[in-house]
Amino acid sequence: MAIGIDIGGTKVAAGVVDDQGTVLAELRRPTHGSDPRAVEATIVELVSELGADYPIGSVGIGAAGWMDLSGGTVLFSPHLAWRNEPLRQNLERLLNRPVMLTNDADGAAWGEWKFGKARGESRLVCITLGTGIGGAMVMDGRLERGRFGVAGEFGHQVIMPGGHRCECGNRGCWEQYASGNALGREARELARANSPVAQEILRAVDGDIDAITGAVVTERARQGDAASIELIEDIGSWLGLGLANLAAALDPGMFVVGGGLCEAGELLLAPTQRAFKRNLTGRGFRPAAAIELAELGAAAGMIGAADLSRSLRISEAGGA
Ligand code: BGC
Ligand code: ZN
Repeated sequence: MAIGIDIGGTKVAAGVVDDQGTVLAELRRPTHGSDPRAVEATIVELVSELGADYPIGSVGIGAAGWMDLSGGTVLFSPHLAWRNEPLRQNLERLLNRPVMLTNDADGAAWGEWKFGKARGESRLVCITLGTGIGGAMVMDGRLERGRFGVAGEFGHQVIMPGGHRCECGNRGCWEQYASGNALGREARELARANSPVAQEILRAVDGDIDAITGAVVTERARQGDAASIELIEDIGSWLGLGLANLAAALDPGMFVVGGGLCEAGELLLAPTQRAFKRNLTGRGFRPAAAIELAELGAAAGMIGAADLSRSLRISEAGGA
C-alpha cells in the first residue's frame, strides 16, 4: 500500500491506495497554508492515522507548488506560503521514511494516465480546477516537467492584460477566469450587485456573501439554479479558450479536466467544448483533441501521487 496526499489551496486530502489505484481509506483536513510548519504537522498526522490501519510502503505528495527538478524543494507557491522550502527533506525527517514530492497537477495527470480516462494516451494534458488552475503533461508515458521542474504552469498564462490580480503577482492570469476561485468571485460579485438572480445562491449561504464559494455555486447549478448554471458556463468559455491555446502549442490527443470543479460535470464540459471548438486554430482542417472529465474525479491527484511514490523520486519516476 502507498499513501497519496494531495495538498491544495484549501484542503489536504490523503488516502491509502493499492497498486491498482483503488482508494481504501481517505481523510481530509483544511490546509492552513500560511504556515509551512502547520502543513507539515497536518501531513504527519494524516500519515500516522492512515498508517495505523494499513501496512504502508511509501508516501507520495502532490502539492500546489512549483517543485525544483529533483522534487525536493518547493520553489514557490501562489496559494501557500512555501518559498524555497525543502519540503521533502523536512517530511522525510518528520516521517522517518522516504517521500516522493511533486506538483499536485502532476499527481492528477499521472493518476488519470495510469488508472483513469487517459489510459493509453500518448500525448496527455491534464488541467485541474480548484483554488487555481493546475497543469501537467504525460508524454509517451513520462511526466514532462520541463528543464527546471516547473513546466505546465498554464494557469499563469496571461490571457487578459491588466485583468484580475493573481496571487502569483501578475494580472490577468488564466486561473483568475477559469478556476473554482474565479467561480466564487464572480458569484459574490453578482450577489453584491444586489441582483435578484443571485437569490438561490444567497439562500444557500443564509445571505452571507463572503461564504459563497465555487463549491456552493457548483452545488446550486446541479440543483438547476439558472444563475449558477450561467456562471459555470462563463467558466467553461474561458476554459475552452485556454485549452484551444494549449492545443495550438502542444497538440495533445486528450485534455483531462480534474479538480473540485469537475463535480459540475456536463454543466462545465459542454460550454468548454463549445468554446474550444470555436477558438481552436485551423478548426475544421485539423484533428481536435478530446476533452474529458477526470474519471477518478477529485481523487486523481491522491491516486497518482501514491503511485508515483512507488518509484520514490520524481526525478526517477515516469519511466512506465
Ligand atoms: C499553481 C500550481 C498548482 C495549481 C493548482 C496554481 O496556482 O501555480 O502549481 O498546481 O495552482 O493547485
Ligand atoms: Zn498568476
